[in-house]
Amino acid sequence: MIRQVTKISTNLNQLHDAIVECFSQLLQKDDFNEITFPAWFESVYKSTKIKSKLKEIHNELDDICARIVFKGLIKIIEQNNRIEAISTRQICETYIDLDSLKIYYDDHIDGFIDKVSEFYLGLYSNYVKKPKLEAHFKTSIRDYIKDFNKVNGRLCVFCGLENTKVIEGQSRPPLDHWLPESKFPFSAINFDNLIPIGKDCNEKKGQRVVMDGRWTNWVWGYYPYKNVDGIKIELIFIKDPQKMDEVVYDNLKLDIGPNNVNDKEYFHSWLKLFNIKQRFDSYLIDDVIDYWQEEYEALIENPKYTLSHAANQNELDDNLIEFSKSYPESREGNLIMNSWISFIRINASDAFKNSLIKRFYNE
Ligand SMILES: [Zn+2]
Repeated sequence: MIRQVTKISTNLNQLHDAIVECFSQLLQKDDFNEITFPAWFESVYKSTKIKSKLKEIHNELDDICARIVFKGLIKIIEQNNRIEAISTRQICETYIDLDSLKIYYDDHIDGFIDKVSEFYLGLYSNYVKKPKLEAHFKTSIRDYIKDFNKVNGRLCVFCGLENTKVIEGQSRPPLDHWLPESKFPFSAINFDNLIPIGKDCNEKKGQRVVMDGRWTNWVWGYYPYKNVDGIKIELIFIKDPQKMDEVVYDNLKLDIGPNNVNDKEYFHSWLKLFNIKQRFDSYLIDDVIDYWQEEYEALIENPKYTLSHAANQNELDDNLIEFSKSYPESREGNLIMNSWISFIRINASDAFKNSLIKRFYNE
């Protein structure tokens, strides 16, 4: 909801496409040996069990019930990978819900569905990271993240409060499965579904679904590749502050809303899923209100910029414009810091501005 980002293409998606193709052949061909695997498949996966796992699935298709279910699964795989369409409810819900498919069949089919799901999840946890696959496609998940960052920057697209960085013990920043693996295993290796995410958002989101997770009450979910108009934030005071001491949690509120009223549903699902209200409030107090004066002073006093402390309101305004420039769109918390700067510039009382001038000028 913070911003729209550009989708990055990667050769690694060919694994996803190849498996989809293999699955349709599993259904069509009675003899496993007649299945044509892509030329690279053999060299990349020779030493692995990927083929024997596909053969296991193929063997189960002798069972008529399993065949019917597998047909349903292939349809689900196609539908669930049209991710943008899912985010806007263009796809009929019954195609997507794996559990609803299970209801119609008895227990041994549950096991079959789980086997196919596990196969897909294994593709993400094992096969997409095989050095031979990376060598063959001349790319890796790390390269994908690097390319994403080059185009879109490193600011977390889900909150704008943190950067996507390598977590201790990991070799790369986390990737979000936008449609979570537990509910949408067949989108596990679709890179349209894999988006770099900050640590805090990743923990908040977990296996929850952006569209609220309840099929009966499905809303449009914020998908970072979908065109949205972003958000606006305004700082509102209950009692007009006359000096910094009166800028306290109980006296202010952050008004957050979508720039475009048509984005309302995306906005609310985003707000709820990432616990935005509370996180923005904490950021405002802990990172903006408590620290801005130090940062502002450091900027004004930095000899590099040849600025000086304001002696009047016009000069204060000029300085705040410079300060705002040090919070460009790519910087963590820029929206909240800029809403604070806007408050001082536009809505603060003369008494408040004068108290700031006095404070900084005299120091
Ligand atoms: Zn985040």
